[in-house]
Amino acid sequence: MSSIVHIALSKGRILEESLPLLARAGIEPAEDPETSRKLVLDSRDPDVKLIIIRAADVPTYVQYGAADLGFAGKDVLMESDGDDLYELLDLKLAHCRMIVAEPDRLAARDDPRNWTRLRIATKYVKTTRQHFAAKGIQTDIIKLYGSMELAPLVGLSDRIVDLVHTGRTLAANGLVEVEHIADISARLVANRASLKMKHAAVRALVQRLAQAVQ
Ligand code: ATP
Ligand code: MG
Repeated sequence: MSSIVHIALSKGRILEESLPLLARAGIEPAEDPETSRKLVLDSRDPDVKLIIIRAADVPTYVQYGAADLGFAGKDVLMESDGDDLYELLDLKLAHCRMIVAEPDRLAARDDPRNWTRLRIATKYVKTTRQHFAAKGIQTDIIKLYGSMELAPLVGLSDRIVDLVHTGRTLAANGLVEVEHIADISARLVANRASLKMKHAAVRALVQRLAQAVQ
C-alpha cells in the first residue's frame, strides 16, 4: 500500500472553513480547490493528496478506503451507515443546528408535546425517522435534496427538518424553529484499514490536524 494519504473534502461551506485549518496543519493545495476542475489535487506535501467530492459522498469514499481521511458534516455522518468509518476529531468548523421548523401561523397554535404523527420534508430521512421514533411519534417523510424551506409554503409538508445557522433563511420564508435535534459541526473521519496499514502516515496527519484545531 502506498504511503500517500488521500483526504476527501467537499466544496462549499466545509472546504471554505477547512482551508485555514489545513494550512495550520501544513496541508496546502497546489491550486485553488474552489475553482479548479481537478478532482484530485496535489498538496505542497508530496505525501498528501486532496480529493474533492460532494459533501454527502465523503463517508462513502472513506468507508471504501478510496480516501484515507475525510472532512464530513455530522449531519452527513448521521445519515450514513458506514461501519468501517471512524470519527476521530471534532474539527469545530461549519457549525450549525439540525432543527424542526414550521410556518409561524402553525406554530402559533402548535404544541410539540401533542405531536403524534407528522408530515415532514427533509434531506435527513434516517435522522428524522430515528429522532421521532425515539419519542413515539410517527412520521410521513418526504425526501428532498435541497430548499426544504419551500415545502411548507406550497403544501408539500407541514414541517421540515433542516440545518440552520443564523435562521435568516427560515425567517425569510415565514418559518420558525420549534424543536432542536442536534448540534452539527464538521468531523474528521478515517478509514479503519488505513489507520492500520498506513499507521504512521495517517496518525501523523491526524496529530497535525488535532493540533491545528486547538
Ligand atoms: P451539495 O452542495 O453537494 O448539494 P450541500 O448543499 O450539503 O451539498 P454545503 O451547503 O456546502 O453542501 O454544506 C455542507 C455542510 O456544511 C453540511 O453538510 C453541514 O454539515 C454544513 N453546514 C454548516 N452550516 C450550514 C447551513 N446553514 N446550512 C447547510 N449546511 C450547513
Ligand atoms: Mg449546497
